[in-house]
Amino acid sequence: MQLPFDQREGTIWLDGKYIEWNDANIHILSHGLQYGGLVFEGIRIYQGKPFKLKEHMARLKNSAELIGFELEHAEAELCAATEELIKLNKIENGYIRPAAWRGTETMLISGAGTKTHVVIAAWESFEWMRHERKQTGVRLMVSKWRKANPDASPYQAKVAGVYAIASMVKNEAEAAGYDDVIMLDSDGNITESSTSNFFAIIGDELYTPIADRFLNGITRQTILQIASELGVVTHEVKLTLDDLKRASACFLTGTAIEIMPIKSVEDIEFELNNDLLQKLQYSYQRLTAT
Ligand code: PMP
Repeated sequence: MQLPFDQREGTIWLDGKYIEWNDANIHILSHGLQYGGLVFEGIRIYQGKPFKLKEHMARLKNSAELIGFELEHAEAELCAATEELIKLNKIENGYIRPAAWRGTETMLISGAGTKTHVVIAAWESFEWMRHERKQTGVRLMVSKWRKANPDASPYQAKVAGVYAIASMVKNEAEAAGYDDVIMLDSDGNITESSTSNFFAIIGDELYTPIADRFLNGITRQTILQIASELGVVTHEVKLTLDDLKRASACFLTGTAIEIMPIKSVEDIEFELNNDLLQKLQYSYQRLTAT
């Protein structure tokens, strides 16, 4: 069992100050907690260096703006604080969690006039469990819950309220003996998993759903870039479960899981040692190692 997150040691950056890990507390009546309006990021540290730091901080700022507030710190300041935090906490390989939220000045739903806060926490993380999963692949079920229509909420915002659903569907999958879900949209097209993007390999070409109703992940964009550099033909298209019957391999992408092979989507099975899948994994690993 890993140590709970309020029982660790280290330094956290909160609103411009470096403070003791266990002093990074907020009041129970914070607006961001009560109404789920906290925006956040997840960033990986490889060999002491944050991967795609600027892109993640830009997305944090954009998430806040999408739900109606501004960060009181410039992106450059947040990036510099992150670099410093990695040094202070002596992290080699780990994870960074920046977050921003409205404070306690009002309980009114609008949150007008609230001060906003920003935190950055970082810790060493051990990836052996994910390494093992990459050998066996993940087993997915199709969630009974559909992805919200693109005009139902700002789907490019990484905001806590939306992750209540991600948490729920992941829990449901695990309770049913699976690792994660595939979420369909209201027309039955594949969108993504609980918190990662989806790719399929059909023939020797790469397919991924159009990111017009779910987070266009930074890893997804990196994979598309790598694929283009490798000269792989890629298609951003509508994909259905029927299309998966023609796929030789499928995988999920995300900052934390990197490229995770999918063993099955319910009773459709895939190869784990597919050539293109392995090439992409190798290239991504090289990129994170430089
Ligand atoms: N979709 C959702 C809903 C996510 O939460 C994430 C993880 N942030 C992703 C996709 C993958 O995004 P990224 O590659 O930027 O981590």
